[in-house]
Amino acid sequence: MKSPDMTRREFTRRAAIGATGIGHALAAKAGVSESRLRITIIGESSCIPDVGHETACFLVNGKHLVDTGWCAAQRMRSHGFDPLALESIILTHFHQDHYIGLPQLLFFIGLQKRPGPPLNILGPAEHLQHVIDATDTFLQVPRFPELAVNRRLVPLSAGDTSELTDLHLETFAANHVSGKSNIEPALVYKVTERASGACAVFTGDTHYHPPIAGFAKGASLLIHDGSHTAPKDAAGIARQAGVSRLVLIHYAQSRAEKILSEAKAIFPNTELAEEGRTLDVFPP
Ligand SMILES: [Zn+2]
Ligand SMILES: [Zn+2]
Repeated sequence: MKSPDMTRREFTRRAAIGATGIGHALAAKAGVSESRLRITIIGESSCIPDVGHETACFLVNGKHLVDTGWCAAQRMRSHGFDPLALESIILTHFHQDHYIGLPQLLFFIGLQKRPGPPLNILGPAEHLQHVIDATDTFLQVPRFPELAVNRRLVPLSAGDTSELTDLHLETFAANHVSGKSNIEPALVYKVTERASGACAVFTGDTHYHPPIAGFAKGASLLIHDGSHTAPKDAAGIARQAGVSRLVLIHYAQSRAEKILSEAKAIFPNTELAEEGRTLDVFPP
């Protein structure tokens, strides 16, 4: 028997799919372009994910994975996505909960012999090479060279841009501190789909950082850390940025109702990220 929580999540997911269908019908009737960004939540949970959940990570247009959660490869498959179809892995920062699924993902891709051009792996320049080298060591790639993944590393610093097949990517510095006040190089990303102009911003992990509002201007959707930033502050950033929709991610189920109500008091069009749900982002 399904738990009440699973029932609620499934209901919400189906409701979202239904609403999307109605939107498409209306758009088609009005002759409006259906071109849009599609963001599928693979994980929404906190550092140690709740049982049955995955740590914050998501797919953009089904082929760019943002962070790897604990086991994004299997999670993607359970939601009907093929890791071999990935074009990019976009890492927000190198805290373990955001890349601990990378070895499994690269093992899956290496073993299955992913065809096509190199897999792009993007992330903060300070630690990208080190983490990839450590992953190769962990997977014993020198001893099992058949596991080597054809890849292209793209080290990024705040202010850098990058071009993916369908997306223009911009970066901005997050404000992320951990441990004994160690500053973690962490990036906020803005993705714009070139064909449609649809635009979304995701913060990755960040403490309250008001300048993000300026960076997020012009985006329709803001996916904001719901763990390190108070919900009311994330909502304030969404309001100041003028986005039409705020989605909070990286939260424990025990806090879900509280953070949603706090954020909605400031920014009514706030939702919680829910695993398996696809968000349609239309051009402004
Ligand atoms: Zn985190
Ligand atoms: Zn972090």
